[in-house]
Amino acid sequence: MPAFMHEASLAFHLVELANEALARHGLRRALALHVEVGALAMVDAEALAVAFASAKQGTPCAEAQLQLTQTPAQTTCPFCQALVLIQHHGQPCPACNNEQGWPCLGQGLLLKTLEAE
Ligand SMILES: [Zn+2]
Repeated sequence: MPAFMHEASLAFHLVELANEALARHGLRRALALHVEVGALAMVDAEALAVAFASAKQGTPCAEAQLQLTQTPAQTTCPFCQALVLIQHHGQPCPACNNEQGWPCLGQGLLLKTLEAE
């Protein structure tokens, strides 16, 4: 499933981060992971949820819920150089109406809060 490789590696990374945080704080299990996803991270939320469900198996995150919040990303339009705030991928540039050219800004994933006990 090469199409979901990106989400799969992100999901494993999130589980890894959460498990490390649990260990550091002497907690037994994660209840919820609140994750911010940048608008240009090119992350498919559904694919990430599926990947997370498989990545958390057998770890202290096994019962944790994944809660995604999409956050706007600031970038420069590659066509007109305007500095724009992107709310979601595919949004046209307010200055020149380009809607294809937004660069992928890497992972853009942030583990914001970890609920655990
Ligand atoms: Zn533009």
